[in-house]
Amino acid sequence: MSVTDENCIFCKIIAGKIPSRKVYEDEELFAFHDINPWAPVHFLIIPKLHIPSVAHATSEHEGLLGRMMLLAPKLALQEGCNPYPEGGFRIVTNTGAEGGQEVHHMHWHVMGGPRPWLRG
Ligand code: AMP
Ligand code: ZN
Repeated sequence: MSVTDENCIFCKIIAGKIPSRKVYEDEELFAFHDINPWAPVHFLIIPKLHIPSVAHATSEHEGLLGRMMLLAPKLALQEGCNPYPEGGFRIVTNTGAEGGQEVHHMHWHVMGGPRPWLRG
């Protein structure tokens, strides 16, 4: 598994070659608004490392996965999700064709905000 994939749209977003509405960035993670939101709040959290899906993650990625998961609730509140329990949010990671994955760079969808949503 390479660190970046030159044909990957999310690697291009991280590199700034494709514009995005950035939500967060640190040394190993990047977050940006989904271009086609399903919910009033809908952003994606991705590792800078090109991992095709969570099915490719190994024990060496334990820390990275933990940090992605812990970032979600912080950014959700920052981006306008209402607090738990009346508010909340949904974390989704589509994996493979039957899992509905279209972009093969692992990502967490974080969706929230007042109902109804467009989907989900
Ligand atoms: P998935 O089906 O889980 O692979 O989801 C990929 C998501 O990436 C979809 O929700 C798309 O709307 C989103 N997406 C694709 N291209 C871009 C882009 N250039 N900027 C922001 N989001 C994007
Ligand atoms: Zn990538």
